[in-house]
Amino acid sequence: MDKLKIAFYWAASCGGCEIAVLDINEKILDVVAKAEIVFWPVAMDIKYKNVEAMPDKTIDVCFFNGAIRNSENEEMAKLLRKKSKTLIAFGSCAHEGCVLGLANLHDREAIFERIYDETPSTNNPDKVVPETHFKVKEVELHLPKFFNTLKTLDQTVYVDYYLPGCPPPVDLIVKAFNSIIENKLPPKGSVLAPVKSVCDECPREKKEKKIPQIYRVYEKAPEPDRCLLEQGIICIGPATRAGCGAQCLSVDYPCTGCGGPCPNEPEQGAAMLSALASILGVDEEKEEGYDPEKLVDQILDPVGTFYKYSLAHSIINRKVKR
Ligand code: SF4
Repeated sequence: MDKLKIAFYWAASCGGCEIAVLDINEKILDVVAKAEIVFWPVAMDIKYKNVEAMPDKTIDVCFFNGAIRNSENEEMAKLLRKKSKTLIAFGSCAHEGCVLGLANLHDREAIFERIYDETPSTNNPDKVVPETHFKVKEVELHLPKFFNTLKTLDQTVYVDYYLPGCPPPVDLIVKAFNSIIENKLPPKGSVLAPVKSVCDECPREKKEKKIPQIYRVYEKAPEPDRCLLEQGIICIGPATRAGCGAQCLSVDYPCTGCGGPCPNEPEQGAAMLSALASILGVDEEKEEGYDPEKLVDQILDPVGTFYKYSLAHSIINRKVKR
């Protein structure tokens, strides 16, 4: 039987997704037994022009990690879409924009100003910022264009499947490989993760219905075995797709939402706000000294808390600048 031709690509991301591929350990041997890696810039010497030269749909499955931050990311997304039969958005950056998407609270000019001028470690008296063309002696150098707005992979090209997580958990990666090899992938457009929330996988017990105070994660040592949200530590588990085995919860760290939205709740931040509102109580339920509005004021970074991974993919996906 011919081996499957697979590709991996890294656009705007931290590189953790590339490491996650290696985290499958010895199972990588099963993969290479059944698949030939034809493009993986981080691990093999291959040039973009080699991909351009491939006939269309040569690659059976392409795992694309990273968001679309600049013109190079966009060009490669379009090229790999053309050359691949199946394109998988691998990891939170490709799927939802991830923490990089929080840059959509600013525009390109503000981001450059901060990075190339304002940061304390920067010494840039001439306020030089990256140019797309730069002449050095007789040579013209080219840099990709940094976009004003970060986009997800499916805001750029058609995506067949999504493998969520920051990075995707090993179990999900292995299951996805097996489904590909056995030709048992679900319908196009599916997220390759369980149809339930992190709360459904979390062993912590839920008892209370009201939050007495909101704590940032470093402000409180949580009781073991009890739901963190009920202890006032904001945990995005109710609004996050399962598949991670609630690993963060097992070390007393709240879910921050990297698995993306739950099935049927595409707007993750709004779903979490709704879940939180239901345990902050309503006016008629107020007890003496219990004020839900004061609790809301204790959430210091609402966008970063509720849309940490999903801002770029949300309905309002960036701050409007007038
Ligand atoms: Fe577990 Fe967080 Fe859900 Fe509570 S809110 S059950 S801590 S995942």
